[in-house]
Amino acid sequence: MSDTNLELIDVSYAYDGGREKLQILERASLTVKKGELIALVAPSGAGKSTLLHLGGLLERPQKGEVTIAGQNTNALSDRARTLMRRNTVGFVYQFHHLLPEFTALENVAIPQMIAGKSISEASEYALTLLDNLGVAPRASHRPSELSGGEQQRVAIARAAANNPNLILADEPTGNLDPDTSNLVFEALLSLIKQHQSSALIATHDHDLARRADHVVTLKEGKIVPFDL
Ligand code: ADP
Repeated sequence: MSDTNLELIDVSYAYDGGREKLQILERASLTVKKGELIALVAPSGAGKSTLLHLGGLLERPQKGEVTIAGQNTNALSDRARTLMRRNTVGFVYQFHHLLPEFTALENVAIPQMIAGKSISEASEYALTLLDNLGVAPRASHRPSELSGGEQQRVAIARAAANNPNLILADEPTGNLDPDTSNLVFEALLSLIKQHQSSALIATHDHDLARRADHVVTLKEGKIVPFDL
């Protein structure tokens, strides 16, 4: 069994910007091991979202390999990639994107039911996740009745609902105050350690990044260690 949840090997990716090609990654490599949380710190426009999309199989690299849980995804069909994404990757965005008409518990249970669990099984596990993230008392509330930090913790529970190998988060604390950011980051960190899954988190917040297992940035198309 592989001890990595995500590997990028010599990955190149460019946008076709009309007259000029915009080279975001050029033979970039990254290894994210089980139980590791990696922070990705880079200025706006550097390519953080692009990198997360490649890792989450939303884009294909033009060159190189993307491996998830030891499986090379290059040769997979679009349908197989979609299935793999559903089974192995969870996304967390800056704005939670929870379903407004459903409760916190339902937001975490629904992805599990789509994956085939019964409503009681899904609800029970949803409650366990919400409890681990410290938001179980808010389980029966809708997103509009939750604070920003609570919403983000529910979004993390939802991303973790189908036990993904990998959580990809794009500025998950971007619109939260420092104390709440801390709480959300800690919740994510303890989830990753507990499940021995992995996370790659784009963040501007150096104080949070410091608590990650590794901090990387993008430089001239490569993924390199970042000195805080
Ligand atoms: P970040 O997340 O670090 O802000 P992005 O990955 O969103 O950076 O974008 C990296 C660069 O690629 C930016 O200059 C952005 O304008 C450009 N870009 C993003 N998406 C596209 C696209 N679909 N077509 C062309 N250029 C794009």
